[in-house]
Amino acid sequence: MSKTFIIGHQKPDTDSVVAALALEFLFNQQKSFGYQNAQAAIVDPINNETNYLLDRFKIPAPELITAQNIAQEDQVILVDHNEESQRLANLDPGQIVEIIDHHKANFNFSNPIYLNFKPWGSTTSIVYFMMQRFASKPIKPTQKLAALMLAAILSDTVGFKSSTTTKRDKDMTQELAGIAQISDLEQFTLDIFKAKSDLSSLTPQQLVKNDYKKFEFNRSTFIGQLETVQQAEILATQKQELLKAMQEVKQDENVELIFLAVTDVLKTNTKLLVADSESEAVAEKAFSETAQDGVIDIGPRLSRKKDIAPAIEQALKNISK
Ligand code: MN
Ligand code: MN
Repeated sequence: MSKTFIIGHQKPDTDSVVAALALEFLFNQQKSFGYQNAQAAIVDPINNETNYLLDRFKIPAPELITAQNIAQEDQVILVDHNEESQRLANLDPGQIVEIIDHHKANFNFSNPIYLNFKPWGSTTSIVYFMMQRFASKPIKPTQKLAALMLAAILSDTVGFKSSTTTKRDKDMTQELAGIAQISDLEQFTLDIFKAKSDLSSLTPQQLVKNDYKKFEFNRSTFIGQLETVQQAEILATQKQELLKAMQEVKQDENVELIFLAVTDVLKTNTKLLVADSESEAVAEKAFSETAQDGVIDIGPRLSRKKDIAPAIEQALKNISK
């Protein structure tokens, strides 16, 4: 029997894993969505934060797949991404039947497909909305799934500090906290931040590539992000190694520009690392700040999607004029 794979982006974060798991639950509960055999999948190993959460709530990780696992008759739903550069490598775009996402759209398919885009703080928020409004009768997540969904919203909105946060995300968080029976949201958010910040086992290259997205702006651009509670410590002890690793990753990934955002999720501050003069010049234009020894303080900009990538894209447009 054919399957419907629900797939998040490369280098999956908690939102992209949990949105896929929650959709698997919803589609298998409610056949009226028309998807057979829905199965959440990941395309790269999960990160420390997601691992911590799956462990804590005893939910197995989705299966790690490659394009070879997808048969010709299977269908694919993309969650939490849409651009080709962020998708599973060698995925046939003709098999994509729906996209559920909260990022800027950048694609062109030859067939009509279902699109569900909302400018909310997380894809999981959109999935919870679908559970309430798109199902023929509202579907309530299990207690464990609600806890994961709550965590995904808190993680993607950086505990509501990100500029991407909407009132809807906050309201949903209250409802999900009720179902999950988690009363101390502040402590829960701190638990998530701590798991997110556990980067101690990673090499400099792994740090640069721990959470990144590639963008096809008018120059190919790599933007990595480290969300941490130890920004000062990382910059004090690992800056040189990180800058060197960025130059290597730039070569390996064959991109023209590379940035690494080191974001302090408690202090609400991002310091952007730039390892080459060209990326530095673009970042200085984008944020109207001067780099010092490879670091640009870009203040309270936490969101790659809303605060960082658009500024870089715009600076590149201005430069090419
Ligand atoms: Mn994501
Ligand atoms: Mn997301």
